[in-house]
Amino acid sequence: MDAEKMLSAISGVSEETEFYAPMPAGYKPGRTKFVFVFGTVMSGLGKGIFSSSLAKCLQDKGLTVAPIKLEGYLNIDSGTLNPYRHGEVFVLDDGMECDMDLGTYERMLDQDLSRLNFTTSGQIFTRVLEKERRGSYLGRDVQMIPHVTGEVKSRLRELAVASHADVVFVEIGGTVGDVENAYYIEAAREIAFEEGPNSCCFVALTYILEPPTLGEQKSKAAQLGIRGLLAVGIQPHIIACRARKPATRKVREKLALYSNVPIDRVFSMHDRESVYVIPEMLRGAGLDLAVIDILHLGERVDPDAEARARQEWNGYSEKLKAASGEVTIGITGKYTSLRDSYASIIQALEHAGAANGVRVRIDWIDTSDLTAETVGESLAHVQGIIVPGGFGVRGTEGKITCIQYAREHGLPYLGICYGFQMAVIEFARNVCGLEGANSTEIDPDCPHPVIDILPEQKQIEGLGGNMRLGGRDVLIRPNTMAASLFNKAPETRLRFRHRYEVDPKYIDAIEQHGMIFSGKAPDYPIMQILEIASDKHPYFVGTQAHPELSSRPLRPHPMFVGLVRAAVTYQGATAAATAPRASAKTVSS
Ligand code: GLN
Repeated sequence: MDAEKMLSAISGVSEETEFYAPMPAGYKPGRTKFVFVFGTVMSGLGKGIFSSSLAKCLQDKGLTVAPIKLEGYLNIDSGTLNPYRHGEVFVLDDGMECDMDLGTYERMLDQDLSRLNFTTSGQIFTRVLEKERRGSYLGRDVQMIPHVTGEVKSRLRELAVASHADVVFVEIGGTVGDVENAYYIEAAREIAFEEGPNSCCFVALTYILEPPTLGEQKSKAAQLGIRGLLAVGIQPHIIACRARKPATRKVREKLALYSNVPIDRVFSMHDRESVYVIPEMLRGAGLDLAVIDILHLGERVDPDAEARARQEWNGYSEKLKAASGEVTIGITGKYTSLRDSYASIIQALEHAGAANGVRVRIDWIDTSDLTAETVGESLAHVQGIIVPGGFGVRGTEGKITCIQYAREHGLPYLGICYGFQMAVIEFARNVCGLEGANSTEIDPDCPHPVIDILPEQKQIEGLGGNMRLGGRDVLIRPNTMAASLFNKAPETRLRFRHRYEVDPKYIDAIEQHGMIFSGKAPDYPIMQILEIASDKHPYFVGTQAHPELSSRPLRPHPMFVGLVRAAVTYQGATAAATAPRASAKTVSS
């Protein structure tokens, strides 16, 4: 039976059939192919990096790709998750708060994603339960199979319709064997059955252990992990081996033998210096062609588009490699030990470094115990500083002390969201003389609440999904630093995630003392970019938004590019000031 007939046979909801596959309007069977990426052995393999790199290889060939991440947890979105445990919360333009992998997809594919590209068990079950209350299941008992899996299939096909994708890339969160992801894997099996041969490509990402005591690669854990996949009816087409060093032929042969995958489809995906070289590595190993072959997509490939895309992308990798010199940017923060909490900032700095021809080193600064006496020492080795987003009281006074130091010593500064608010607090206290100025988030009874809760946030109770979220237009004031950063564009678009703002009644007082609000919301008095005039400070910029979320390798965000540029200049100036003079040297020798 061909895919179309099969689908029409199973898509009807009735009491007579056990099949259940609700089809979204406009779905054309066979038009969109699906690649599923499963993780085995352990989490943290870089499934998102792998999946996005593979998607990029296909996108480069002129195909339209649409990624989706399926999360096992019951939260509706990632907004209430602790970044300590789960990495940063990535905010999409439509306001969806999601997993940091979505950031990897946006950067790799240079594509804005939406809530269609992200789902959680919480969302899936909510839809099933809403349908149950509406009586949509026609008297049936609602079951994990076929109804919950039916909802998953439906989400994948909705994305296929909305994106007109040639290939939907499905990344299944967690690891094969986790209870909470098992029904996603079952949905993958069902969709392959329904869509028919050459419609789905299953990729098992696995991990090759190399215990230091043995000094050789061992494949047993990988074999067992893949066996877990076979046990639930998924025969992988491709195996990708994560490993520190290239996976050996011996290991690949063992995996091929144990899992019925031809050796030329068992690939090594070992550690590399930058995630952006992985697409080229996959291409070098022929993984892109394997997928094209399995999915019968050869006719849709455009080789000219691929040559152009590769050249552009490799230009970026070459810039990274060719970077000479290094600047150090300090990042203050509560989650200083966890790089995942600041993944997008780290990426944005890499992009900005490449744009400036330098490598950017990051110095993490814990502000919990930082004081006016110790700040100079803590910042002695940095040429720029970022105070990133955050919530709550801990470490805030230390951050404010860092900002004061940066402002008074001409040290380049970029304040992001909370870092913007704290720059306002510092300026209000130390320049405007508003003693005790603060945010009501930190001190609800302070004498000068220069940062206060947004009026629209005052009525809201509970913490889920209710901040000012997502992309907003920002009007740029002409003849400011912001205007020059954004190439004199009258407006830009930035992404937001906040509950507090500058209280409009303090704006005049602050501006009269020399802080400029150079970016504002079009319709409300919400201050979105601040700066100190360039004749008074080389680079003191803050934004209520999260510019790191919209930085891309080929389109680095101007606020980060500006920071790194200023850091390079600062480095030059301090080096000149401290270098021993040639004449002095001669005298002493
Ligand atoms: N806590 C601040 C607010 O809610 C800043 C939020 C952030 O940095 N993302 O407005």
